[in-house]
Amino acid sequence: MEDCIFCKIRLGELPSTKLYEDDDFMIIKDINPQAKIHLIAIPKEHAPYIDMLTKEGSERLGKIIGKISHMQEELGLTNGYRLIINQGEDAGQTVGHIHIHILGGEKLKEF
Ligand code: AMP
Ligand code: ZN
Repeated sequence: MEDCIFCKIRLGELPSTKLYEDDDFMIIKDINPQAKIHLIAIPKEHAPYIDMLTKEGSERLGKIIGKISHMQEELGLTNGYRLIINQGEDAGQTVGHIHIHILGGEKLKEF
């Protein structure tokens, strides 16, 4: 947890471009955008992987996804968006603090 990039961002120990924050999570711009708009939603609670979440942790994550889903206007995503959670090595998860990628601002490539 001490070496976690996203915990450091939450604590203000690393810089970020923050677009939104509440008691549950924050939304920042991804430092290496893969789409015209690429944001990351970071839960405030440190948990490394979605497959390690407790029932309560899953419910909190669901609440966060529910909130993001209704933020199209303020995030500039009224024409649609894609949410991605990478889990583990095969998915290419590089930061061990659960986060949700929010992609949009253009027509996204199909998988
Ligand atoms: P993942 O590969 O799913 O673990 O995603 C990690 C994401 O965090 C990548 O898209 C990185 O570009 C992004 N990232 C890493 N460090 C920072 C940072 N300091 N500020 C903003 N985004 C970051
Ligand atoms: Zn963390």
